[in-house]
Amino acid sequence: MLFYAQRGWLRFSYRSRKGDRFTCNNCGKQYDAFAPRYPSAADKNALEQFEVVAGYGENVYCPWCMCTSRERLMIAIFSTKIPVAGKRILHLSPEPFLFRFLHKQASVISTDLVPGFYKQIDPHIQYADATQLPFPTHSFDMVIGNHIMEHIPDDRRAMQEVYRVLKPGGIAVLQAPFSERIPITREEPTINDPQKQSAWFGQKDHVRIYSLTDYLERLKAAGFQVNYWSYDSLKEYYRYAIQPGEGFIHLLKV
Ligand SMILES: [Zn+2]
Repeated sequence: MLFYAQRGWLRFSYRSRKGDRFTCNNCGKQYDAFAPRYPSAADKNALEQFEVVAGYGENVYCPWCMCTSRERLMIAIFSTKIPVAGKRILHLSPEPFLFRFLHKQASVISTDLVPGFYKQIDPHIQYADATQLPFPTHSFDMVIGNHIMEHIPDDRRAMQEVYRVLKPGGIAVLQAPFSERIPITREEPTINDPQKQSAWFGQKDHVRIYSLTDYLERLKAAGFQVNYWSYDSLKEYYRYAIQPGEGFIHLLKV
């Protein structure tokens, strides 16, 4: 119910901000500003100190449908540079708008460690541990895990698993929050209670802050051919109010 109450309030309070600066590629509505999303007081310090690109800031939620900037980036890329029609896709921890977008045109299987959280998005969601995916090698044309690696203690193993279940020529999308300010990923396995994780990593269920360069290195080590499409190279998508600073990580299994 909270979702509908929030959405009702946003629709109402943004009714005077209709305009053509931003277009939502989920619902098609246009506004001069989208709604902001700010981190909690507990999360804020780490995010600011390391300038983490983590999905906060101005123009995050579409005031009409509440689609987020990170989903709009995916929808933009999958509508242009990486077509998804007819593909066999594994969607890890599916996000509502992205899942519906994919489901309309592709064959999508979704999984999560806690599938109950996602039943309303996909009633057929299956249990799976990303470090031990219950699928044969070479099963999928695409694997999408949008902002999941920062939650997984053994992220290298999860990357290898994603690589394994992809078909040769397949593409993985594993966007994650990152900092371009730090050369080394900030992680410490002994920090494993929510309060400390907020203070250290900027979210109570994150286990690290990735250094962007290190994140790309880990993905290469898992076997991927890695291409980073910087935010500056994504200008054609700025009108969808994508997250400033977030580039697209193109991961190919050759
Ligand atoms: Zn929208």
